[in-house]
Amino acid sequence: MNYKPGRIFLSVPHMGGHEKNYVLKALEDNWVTTTGPNLPGFEHDICQHTNARHAVALSSGTAAIHLALRVLGIGPGDDVFCPTFTFVASANPILYVGATPVFVESEAETWNMCPDALRQAIVDRIMAGRKPGCILVVHLYGMPARLKEIMTVAEEFKIPVVEDAAEALGSRYGGHQVGTLGSIGIFSFNGNKIVTTSGGGALITANEQLANQARFLAAQAKDPAPYYQHSQLGYNYRLSNVSAGIGRGQMEVLEKRVKQRREVYVYYKDRLKEIEGLEFLPEPKGSFSNRWLTTVLLPDNHTPESIRLALEEENIEVRPLWKPLHLQPLFKDAPYYGNNLSEQLFSRGLCLPSSSNLTEEELGKVVKVLLQQFQQM
Ligand SMILES: *Cc1c(COP(=O)(O)O)cnc(C)c1O
Repeated sequence: MNYKPGRIFLSVPHMGGHEKNYVLKALEDNWVTTTGPNLPGFEHDICQHTNARHAVALSSGTAAIHLALRVLGIGPGDDVFCPTFTFVASANPILYVGATPVFVESEAETWNMCPDALRQAIVDRIMAGRKPGCILVVHLYGMPARLKEIMTVAEEFKIPVVEDAAEALGSRYGGHQVGTLGSIGIFSFNGNKIVTTSGGGALITANEQLANQARFLAAQAKDPAPYYQHSQLGYNYRLSNVSAGIGRGQMEVLEKRVKQRREVYVYYKDRLKEIEGLEFLPEPKGSFSNRWLTTVLLPDNHTPESIRLALEEENIEVRPLWKPLHLQPLFKDAPYYGNNLSEQLFSRGLCLPSSSNLTEEELGKVVKVLLQQFQQM
């Protein structure tokens, strides 16, 4: 990557200050491996913050989703109901385990999985003789999905729910931290997320057996024996104790980062409110978003690409919204249920620079270039 200096990125890491103490201690004590005191420490911090009973620190959010599907016993012949409007990492693990992704359209209020389309998909697939494996719900850009309605559908058909909260650590739904309402929740600590371990993830659950099984599979599924004995397929998915040290420092400032990201959203909203046809995504009652990324839908006479190029000229990074997965060549044969809302979102939407360490000057620059584009200067 060879960027001009002074570039304003979409979302960058933001250290709190104590990360280096934890990392230095790991180096000094020679815990430079996938065991060591930062790992249970980090898992404890995650439990404390989310009220989860068990947390397993892992090498990525993708690994956490893969393990979630494995410990729920999802495999070939199972349908996994997944939103079409999400990052590919939500759905790739469905293919890893040989299950079938069934893509479900979003609803307009949160841009997340539509409970009605979900129900329709489940009924239709069961009628066709298919076996529901699980519902993988995603809280996109930090906005909680309509969990109450989705859990009602899940209970009606007795299907377990996995929450992909990779982008939503710190978001709340009806007073609960997201990730804690389904059977399993997952978080990502990738460098672009609200807090980071440079690369990492976590699986949370209230079920001790599921947590133990995830921990077992993440460390190569070594059977209890004095030699190397294996009866299940395992993975090398543990987080490093060095990375967990970064995570410990980051968890100390998570609340602050949520506050700062929410301030970024308010900044844009206040200064761009006069632009006719420009839409933000408000929080529904009872939901609290970490506002990982501020997203907008553009007025009719602008395309995401024209705005992206104009900002690129000024060394500012913006990104289009996710391209729906049912339109991706990788998933061209997967069933899809919905009315194409996500296609409209994709054709109209942009993610704005949303880092918690953006300065007032940088935010001002982004707004100035946007206003110029909308010819409101
Ligand atoms: C980032 C992300 C993931 C994957 O997390 P990694 O830690 O990058 O593997 C999964 N789902 C969503 C929605 C994400 O944004």
